[in-house]
Amino acid sequence: MSKTLFEKIISREIPATIVYEDDLVLAFRDINPQAPQHVLIVPKKPITRIAAAKPEDHQILGHLLLKAAEVARQLGIAESGFRLVFNNGPHAGEAVPHLHCHIIGGRAMGWPPG
Ligand code: AMP
Repeated sequence: MSKTLFEKIISREIPATIVYEDDLVLAFRDINPQAPQHVLIVPKKPITRIAAAKPEDHQILGHLLLKAAEVARQLGIAESGFRLVFNNGPHAGEAVPHLHCHIIGGRAMGWPPG
């Protein structure tokens, strides 16, 4: 199977502005930011999307969420508020088949999403 874009970012074959890394996850700035702060946090394990995650992935996914909150604090948007978004499948606009959580903040956002 060929590598996804995010696997290539994890392996440093494609450059990205990395804001956080540990053994399980990598967080980097979105190349097309939708708000003043827009970071993607991904598991290093190539899980395709949240609907494809397995029970044994629970530790990775819990870790990813805790680190998303930590990255939001690091970005200075924890107090003002931020949104975490997982786009899963065509109707959600998923473009990269490697699970990723958008961390978006720095401006007020509308609801419901478009
Ligand atoms: P999604 O639509 O949820 O699959 O989100 C994919 C995201 O990846 C989009 O917000 C893109 O702007 C972002 N993206 C695409 N290519 C890159 C890249 N090379 N570096 C960082 N972010 C990227």
